[in-house]
Amino acid sequence: MLEIKNLHARIADTETEIIRGLNLTVRDGEVAAIMGPNGSGKSTLSYILAGRDDYEVTEGDILFNGESILEMDPAERAAAGVFLAFQYPMEIPGVATMEFLKVAMNSQRKARGEPELKIPDLLKRVRVAADELSMDMSMLKRPLNVGFSGGEKKRAEILQMKLLEPKLCVLDETDSGLDIDALKIVADGVNALRSPDRSVVVITHYQRLLDYIVPDSVHVLYKGQVIRSGSKELAHELEANGYAGVIGEAA
Ligand code: ADP
Ligand code: MG
Ligand code: MG
Repeated sequence: MLEIKNLHARIADTETEIIRGLNLTVRDGEVAAIMGPNGSGKSTLSYILAGRDDYEVTEGDILFNGESILEMDPAERAAAGVFLAFQYPMEIPGVATMEFLKVAMNSQRKARGEPELKIPDLLKRVRVAADELSMDMSMLKRPLNVGFSGGEKKRAEILQMKLLEPKLCVLDETDSGLDIDALKIVADGVNALRSPDRSVVVITHYQRLLDYIVPDSVHVLYKGQVIRSGSKELAHELEANGYAGVIGEAA
């Protein structure tokens, strides 16, 4: 599904390399967790996967189902089935959440050659998905993410993810700012999306989320590289001993 090969990247117009030879493979159906201390490049990696143009890939490649996505813009990546839930979801003043969902769902369908959803069908799908996330429909009348609490923003991200049915989901620190009930709801939402033909990359720096979304693999990112990969036990090891041990070994 996803193969990142010797990726090097920097912030556009700077010399500072943030991703420094990163390798990562995520198979079809796999849930991979990326952990790592603050500042190790986790969010940068998610921005690069999304195709944000303020980052510049200088070496290496990102293959999605065997094809390089480096030349694809963010909309093309989304249409191909890549979904990113950001650590800091963007606020879109002036666009009601429902309106945003309508446009996103129908442009996704158009890109896949599927017919547009009629309003009643679309509303029904949104209502079912919002219900599963214990989201109040009245929230969907408000502009996307504007004035939403941390937890509401994360739920809105998961709602989009459920409705867009992506092939590859990348969740950056979806657990930050969530109380335990919201965390469970978000985790249930992600777990419900697990399937043999969908892969999920969960970025987090705490092990807690991984009690609810149990990963198939865990990768430690440090200074822009994956310095260690392992099974879910690696997350427990990190929780018990901190990152220092793993960083020391790698050095
Ligand atoms: P993480 O998500 O793992 O906490 P980030 O990807 O946010 O890490 O940041 C990785 C490194 O890149 C940090 O050292 C951070 O200070 C630096 N960085 C991120 N964005 C910028 C920016 N716009 N300008 C300069 N440095 C940046
Ligand atoms: Mg950070
Ligand atoms: Mg981050």
